Amino acid sequence: MTSSPLWRPFFQHAVEPTPPTIVEASGAWLTTDSGDRILDAISSWWVITHGHRHPAIMEAIRKTSERLDQLIFASVTHEPAERLARELVALAPEGLAHVFFSDSGSTAVEVALKMALGTFRNRGEARTRVAVLEGGYHGDTIGAMSVGERGVFNAAYEPLLFDVVRLPFPHPGREQATLDALEVAGRGGELAAVLVEPLVLGAGGMRMYGADTLAELARVAREAGALFVADEVMTGWGRTGALFACEHAGVAPDILCTSKGLTGGALPLAATLATAEIFDAHRSTDRSKTFFHSSSFTANPIACAAALANVGVWRDEPVAERVAALAAHHAARMPRFDGDERFANARACGTIAAVDLRVDDPGYLAEVGPKLRAFFLGRGLLVRPLGETIYLMPPYCVTEPELDRLYDAIFEAAGVVGAPR
Ligand SMILES: *Cc1c(COP(=O)(O)O)cnc(C)c1O
Repeated sequence: MTSSPLWRPFFQHAVEPTPPTIVEASGAWLTTDSGDRILDAISSWWVITHGHRHPAIMEAIRKTSERLDQLIFASVTHEPAERLARELVALAPEGLAHVFFSDSGSTAVEVALKMALGTFRNRGEARTRVAVLEGGYHGDTIGAMSVGERGVFNAAYEPLLFDVVRLPFPHPGREQATLDALEVAGRGGELAAVLVEPLVLGAGGMRMYGADTLAELARVAREAGALFVADEVMTGWGRTGALFACEHAGVAPDILCTSKGLTGGALPLAATLATAEIFDAHRSTDRSKTFFHSSSFTANPIACAAALANVGVWRDEPVAERVAALAAHHAARMPRFDGDERFANARACGTIAAVDLRVDDPGYLAEVGPKLRAFFLGRGLLVRPLGETIYLMPPYCVTEPELDRLYDAIFEAAGVVGAPR
């Protein structure tokens, strides 16, 4: 193999083998250049919802690209963005009335933070602190890293990161400690925003907490005068069983971030939705109150058309039923882990299932991580454990026999690579 100039994401070039070359993606499957097939059990990093290359989404991309490419969105508008914004407002939790487009989950979060701080500054209120959940992940840009969990991923950049209030993760039975910490943090009147991943902390190890706690977090945040920001970049578009995870809790956030599944995963696009209050705080004849943010590819017409097609798929196909069936299939397989000492904390939320392997060196750099990855890939399964946490987050078109294959492989993997004590 000739050496490649590529520098891959989250990839240790000194030790990791060259990844397979994919020449075709279809449904839940990838095909390599040597004709091998790989089951994409993690939806290509949580973005592919219905399946790879859904025909309606591909058709929208093809058709739109015959008429439009990137347009400067500060100066012109176009139908795909106008229509998509209206669709998103109609689908999102109550009260979210405005849509700001960007191009990744990280930028959607940066935009949310800027909207929150800008709102209070424009109102002349000195609120600049942000509270987050311990173990959270919100992206890899500097602001997004600042509000995320600190650790080996960002230790080198620590001097650039701003300080935030960290609330203990609401472990089952200890939720009150989280709410109390938020209540205390809110007393100084400094909190601008409380930012959380609703129900499932993705990159933080697929940690899950209940809808009641989410509702309480939103309530306490509001009581403290802070804006409640839901990072639904991973949880949106059916992942937790509802279109948005906030629906499980009846929570209407002040700001909602969405990306990953927004285009069904086909193209990069993100949106930050905000209430009329937040928009209005930036609407003024005083031009210094403008929301000063843009990205070159904001509201890309082809990506917006892909997202509109995704909304169409949700409307025209029984996606909610597919999601419910997948959730039931995961739930039915959880008892298989009961009493097996090699595993701990088997858990599922909607289309996401996770289990921890008992190892001596838990954490993201757990020795078992790369071994597991290689093990699964050797069986034609794309699974990327987070340290010792093995999780499945397949596209919604995955079949029950395919799921069985994945679960069987998890048990086999525990026997082969696990060193349980
Ligand atoms: C993936 C993710 C992000 C970052 O999205 P990118 O598109 O990778 O920048 C932000 N928040 C959550 C919850 C995510 O899972």
